[in-house]
Amino acid sequence: MLKYGSAGGSTDSELKIPATINTYCPRCRKYTPHKVTLYKKGKDRALARGARHHERELHGYGGQKYPIQRKKAKTTQKQTLKLICKECGYTIHKEGIRLRKLEIVG
Ligand SMILES: [Zn+2]
Repeated sequence: MLKYGSAGGSTDSELKIPATINTYCPRCRKYTPHKVTLYKKGKDRALARGARHHERELHGYGGQKYPIQRKKAKTTQKQTLKLICKECGYTIHKEGIRLRKLEIVG
């Protein structure tokens, strides 16, 4: 599997990740080259079931149903890698570690 560098909280510089990685593909059931890209959250659909429910809940007395987080302790976000199998196109999401900067090299 894919390994990151020492996860011992070194805050210096950035993590470099090669643009292609050899890793296990569950569909091919073998190790194949994978294309590496960064996962990005898709756009929320305004008419999704949960969004409609949430909007309805905000109305009336006692509107906000959960505390809104205002004082954030974390300064970094976890970066998720998207690995796409070059043989069959199967996509794996690989959850990352907290990083200030991540660079895909090559
Ligand atoms: Zn595959």
